[in-house]
Amino acid sequence: MHGDGFVDGNSAAGMFAEALGLDITTAVVTCAGCGRGGPFAETHVYDQGPGVVARCTTCEAVVARLVRTPTDAWLDLRGARSVRIPLSQ
Ligand SMILES: [Zn+2]
Repeated sequence: MHGDGFVDGNSAAGMFAEALGLDITTAVVTCAGCGRGGPFAETHVYDQGPGVVARCTTCEAVVARLVRTPTDAWLDLRGARSVRIPLSQ
């Protein structure tokens, strides 16, 4: 916890791994708002509400939102221009 109500992207790794079957923390997320690209692990994750929200470290726009219901995971990536996922070699 950084004291501003958010944690880093590593804290959301488990939820994303459950939904996507991959490690989201090493993915490079490019913010649709300001164009900043960086590892998901560095995003500001807010997990107090229903689901988790990842925000851009530069402009605080929401780049990813994941809500889990008992049967489904809802992933909203409209705030990300792209998500680059490294493939294991
Ligand atoms: Zn941004």
